[in-house]
Amino acid sequence: MIKTDMIIVGAGPTGLFTVFEAGLLKLKCHLIDALPQPGGQCSEIYPKKPIYDIPGFPEVLAGDLVSNLMEQIKSFEPGFTLGERAETIDKQEDGSFIVTTNKGTQHHAPVVVIAGGLGSFEPRKPPIPTITDFEDKGVAYIIKEPEIYRDKKVVIAGGGDSALDWAIYLADIASEVSLVHRRQEFRGALDSVEKVEELSKIGKIKMITNAEVVDLQGEENLEAVVIRHKDTARGEEVKEVDCFIPLFGLSPKLGPIADWGLEIEKNAIKVNNSYDYQTNIPGVYAIGDVNTYPGKLKLILCGFHESAIMCQSAYQRIFPDKKYVMKYTTVSGVNGFDGSKK
Ligand code: FAD
Repeated sequence: MIKTDMIIVGAGPTGLFTVFEAGLLKLKCHLIDALPQPGGQCSEIYPKKPIYDIPGFPEVLAGDLVSNLMEQIKSFEPGFTLGERAETIDKQEDGSFIVTTNKGTQHHAPVVVIAGGLGSFEPRKPPIPTITDFEDKGVAYIIKEPEIYRDKKVVIAGGGDSALDWAIYLADIASEVSLVHRRQEFRGALDSVEKVEELSKIGKIKMITNAEVVDLQGEENLEAVVIRHKDTARGEEVKEVDCFIPLFGLSPKLGPIADWGLEIEKNAIKVNNSYDYQTNIPGVYAIGDVNTYPGKLKLILCGFHESAIMCQSAYQRIFPDKKYVMKYTTVSGVNGFDGSKK
């Protein structure tokens, strides 16, 4: 039985930063994640994508953000149970909790923090009958290592930020990048749309709008995609490619957490956002992408904010008789934290 002050389900950016905030309050944390590595969506879906909205970082690759978070929490020595899914939660008579994973590892703590993000996520696949035949043979739904597309002919499909950002990024790596979208207008950030249009003008991205990929061809590996234009006069075209990357987002599944007796709304956990991000079960908090409340934004910086507020409440729950006075981390030795310690 692993004993700790705070069990954190989910080692995404929110869960990792919680170790820091809790550490300032001298609370020990143990993280559980179904993935084999920490970092959540940042590591699993877009490690090489730049992020532009982390305060103080004009630009940071998602993977580097995770490395920095790991460095930031190192001195608090968190525990990790990786590659195991938190399956059940059992409330004890004294109000504490035991969280058990699918591999039977048990964790015991007075507080549980769910930072489970989208839960176990599945990419949305386009309805192309042959698509599964070409998975890992030219078809990918997640870009983990952009270098594998060097000098390749790539077709990206989608109209959101992910499709736009990757089209921009791969324009310098692949020999040819085509961006296929079924509408004329893109849903992504205006800045990214303008960048794609600029790259299209100089021939680095081929924009194919009002069209969709309807079939895939190839013997063993993918060799061509069939693109159907809305304009019936243009009909269908067969385009030779090495890789097809449909980026239509993820369909979130909460997984076992959905059966923990928590109030769920639109596949997310309802929390009290006027106070401390606690769920309907006292002692169980939910922060980051996994929660919902009026005005919720699924952004990394919002998860960080929620983590800081939540830790104050968790501290009061664990030590109801102690009064905590908040100090800035720049005050030397605050709560045992020495900012100079690396
Ligand atoms: P996650 O990162 O989703 O991590 C949750 C973790 O919990 C996962 O590792 C999962 O395996 C684990 N988990 C879930 N259920 C269980 C369970 N039962 N047991 C064990 N582990 C479990 N945000 C920005 O602020 N700026 C951006 O530029 C930006 N770009 C993005 C681009 C893309 C393509 C995507 C998909 C998202 C982007 N986001 C961006 C959103 C950002 O990634 C999320 O807001 C952030 O990852 C949420 O962090 P989190 O820690 O709450 O959850």
